[in-house]
Amino acid sequence: MRKRFIAGATCPECKAQDSMMLYVENEREMVRCVECDFLMKEPQEAVHEKTGTQQDQVIGIFKPE
Ligand SMILES: [Zn+2]
Repeated sequence: MRKRFIAGATCPECKAQDSMMLYVENEREMVRCVECDFLMKEPQEAVHEKTGTQQDQVIGIFKPE
């Protein structure tokens, strides 16, 4: 199982920074917070490796309303 942290991501539950871990389970991408165990199923495609142009999208996903 491959796991990696999402740089700059903030957990919507506990607001911890850099605690969101992306991994693949049954060929589906899952995102879990290592601080509070919050689980985000089927994250959007933007939650991939951070690249320059997609940085805003990646951060945006985890912003609360
Ligand atoms: Zn959390």
